[in-house]
Amino acid sequence: MITETAKGIYINGKWTSTENNKTFDIVNPATNEKIAEVPYGSGRDMKLAIEAADKAFTTWSQYTARERSSYLYKAYQLMLDRKEELASILTQEQGKPLSESRGEIDFAASFLLWFAEEANRSYGEVIPASKKNKRLMVVPQPVGVVGAITPWNFPSAMVTRKVAPALAAGCTVVLKPAEQTPLSAIEIVKIFNEVGLPEGVLNIVTGDPQSIGKEMMDNNIVRHVTFTGSTKVGKHLMKESANTVKKLSLELGGHAPLIVFEDANIDLAVDQAIASKYRNAGQTCICTNRIFVHSNIEELFLEKLENKVKQMKIGNGTEEGTEIGPLINEEALRKVKTQVGDAIEKGADLRTGGETWEGPGGYFYKPTILANVSHSMSIMSEETFGPVVPIVSFTDDKEVVKEANNTNYGLAAFLFTTNIERAISTMEKLEYGIVGINDVFPGTAEAPFGGIKESGMGKEGSHEGLKEFLEMKYVSLSLSE
Ligand code: NAD
Repeated sequence: MITETAKGIYINGKWTSTENNKTFDIVNPATNEKIAEVPYGSGRDMKLAIEAADKAFTTWSQYTARERSSYLYKAYQLMLDRKEELASILTQEQGKPLSESRGEIDFAASFLLWFAEEANRSYGEVIPASKKNKRLMVVPQPVGVVGAITPWNFPSAMVTRKVAPALAAGCTVVLKPAEQTPLSAIEIVKIFNEVGLPEGVLNIVTGDPQSIGKEMMDNNIVRHVTFTGSTKVGKHLMKESANTVKKLSLELGGHAPLIVFEDANIDLAVDQAIASKYRNAGQTCICTNRIFVHSNIEELFLEKLENKVKQMKIGNGTEEGTEIGPLINEEALRKVKTQVGDAIEKGADLRTGGETWEGPGGYFYKPTILANVSHSMSIMSEETFGPVVPIVSFTDDKEVVKEANNTNYGLAAFLFTTNIERAISTMEKLEYGIVGINDVFPGTAEAPFGGIKESGMGKEGSHEGLKEFLEMKYVSLSLSE
């Protein structure tokens, strides 16, 4: 048990409860046991949070970039000081192995550091005017109050990847974390509270997604909503944003192909395919969803993959050495079972896995490989979000690119080859926001992360991530002749 009642609603620098003191339970997905209780906030609480953020914006937006940067830098240091404690909370509420949680805390902290530095680089422009007496300037200004909605699969990093650039830009924030994993987000708010962030600058409301989300979308004080989650909810928010014409950044689902060409380093491709597919039990937006292997090396690749996957240690993420933790909940487990059942029924070969694992009472599914997969199987068109990978063989470079692009998603794609020309020409043809060449870990604070097509719009990280929260005000000055 982490705590009886976790703090959950923080408005204007104070932790508060909600109407009727309503709460909801947070459950450890590895054991199915309750670990905490969190306030079940509503649109009413979000409204108060937005008003507090609006009031705070007046002063926060006037702080110098260096002043804003110093809060982010202190939060970065505190986060790293607390790494073990934060990683333990993350594993308990989300299920991923402790080693991955430690990695996520480092990743989350890296956004605080990066945007502490980027805060000082939000330059404007001076445009050479066509008239002698004119001076034309572009002045970056914070967009205003930002609404941030985060998912459960990276409960810490998805918060800092949004909050850090927004604060760096001079915006104030109202945050709504996923109902499955609010504890990591609450810890981040506590860190900002401890480093003395002025009241109202960062607010959090846990609870009912529909009513909190509706208030965030309908309230015209909120000028930008940054969302990471499913394409379904992203599309819904896009429609809602029309009512107040607010800006949106959307980081949505993915269906990443991983292409292994005949000339690839097979051992590297196998290891990276495993790292990409099975981390976080396959619950990562950029994780490999389909592997395309050249037919000449298919059997060798499959043998090597199967041998390694069979040895993977499944279990409670709190046990050191665990490589595969549980899925987030019963519904996620059911979806994976349905996809695998559908594939096997339609003729796929089950090479390993394909069943649940009892373990300590949570929602475990054994790492699974399906060969001889065809396009009629749902696993080839739906985001999997589980430790299951379908393998398809190919013979022709053009054909495989066409197959890889045959999806409405466009987040990340991976390819393995030792031929630089093939690498570049394939990369150029892949319709994805991110391409990893012999690399399945492209995510890093200094690079722009984001998808195209139904995987979303806007970028997080890099200088682009800061720009999302800046309005470019054009100023035309006329001098006397
Ligand atoms: P989800 O869309 O169900 O939930 C995401 C967030 O939206 C949660 O906080 C949830 O409470 C909230 N939400 C749900 N309904 C809402 C509504 N009507 N109004 C406002 N908010 C609402 O997604 P999830 O299951 O938490 O996360 C998994 C999804 O996130 C996957 O599709 C994954 O690919 C995607 N994801 C994308 C990225 C990326 O960078 N592109 C990163 C991580 C996860």
